[in-house]
Amino acid sequence: MKRLNFTLDNQTVELLNRLSEKYYGGNKSQTVRAALESLAAHQGHDGWVITGYTPVLVDHDVSCHSCGTGHPEGNVLFRPVFEKGNSPDAIKQIPSEEWVECSMCVESH
Ligand SMILES: [Zn+2]
Repeated sequence: MKRLNFTLDNQTVELLNRLSEKYYGGNKSQTVRAALESLAAHQGHDGWVITGYTPVLVDHDVSCHSCGTGHPEGNVLFRPVFEKGNSPDAIKQIPSEEWVECSMCVESH
């Protein structure tokens, strides 16, 4: 447990009072916690998020994961770097198949 100190405007304080009285027996910490959990649920879900790309020199024919364009060996494509995160685009599992994207798709992300 940690004590946080932050500032809210009067309207928000009133809302917090009202919600905490109505649903959480006046417990404001619990109310804020429920609000944050609800926000997180609406914002996205926990999973793997692409945080960047590393260039790879492909040594066989591959297709771009996004646009499907084929690329012969010797081309430089980009492999996504995944990190645990929370986002509407988060995926549950890192796919086990090869995932590379062309520079056009990487730039448009
Ligand atoms: Zn592409």
